[in-house]
Amino acid sequence: MLIPHDTRRALDVVVDLVNTAPESDQGDRLADLEALYGFVRLHHVSDVGTLTEADLRAVRDVRGRFADVFAALDPRTCAELINQLVAAAGTTPRLTDHDGFDWHVHYFAPGASVADHLAADCGMALAFIVVSGEQERLRRCEAPDCRRAFVDLSRNRSRRYCDSRTCGNRLHVAAYRARRKEAAG
Ligand SMILES: [Zn+2]
Ligand SMILES: [Zn+2]
Repeated sequence: MLIPHDTRRALDVVVDLVNTAPESDQGDRLADLEALYGFVRLHHVSDVGTLTEADLRAVRDVRGRFADVFAALDPRTCAELINQLVAAAGTTPRLTDHDGFDWHVHYFAPGASVADHLAADCGMALAFIVVSGEQERLRRCEAPDCRRAFVDLSRNRSRRYCDSRTCGNRLHVAAYRARRKEAAG
């Protein structure tokens, strides 16, 4: 699956956003405005001015809706959720090459709040996955104590665990056992 660079970046952002939620980690990683500023800086979210408590609440709300997208079991449910998110955010697609990046499309409307910005651009990146017939790649880690969201970009859609150290190791152990079994059988 060929994913444009900016789509891939937006997917990284939405995965990290969903994984800031308390149910998938210890404690909310978007607990306060400082954390939201940190998130925005980390992911180079452009055109963000002064943030307020209202922004924080709105971003947490959008985060919950994105979590639903990752929990959706079929493309239709996924599409409906994405349509709602993107419609509520409002979009103004436009080409840009800001800050030395190659030409790419921004979907968020000029002056959009950070929540609408994330909803529009991450929503469209997820829409691209659905359009490509790849909704199944939007996954939750199968480790019972983890459940982090991730996008499975493996060739045969075989990834079951997120790339956190614990779950990645689990994957290696499982592969090792499978190899041993094969060798023994
Ligand atoms: Zn950009
Ligand atoms: Zn995991």
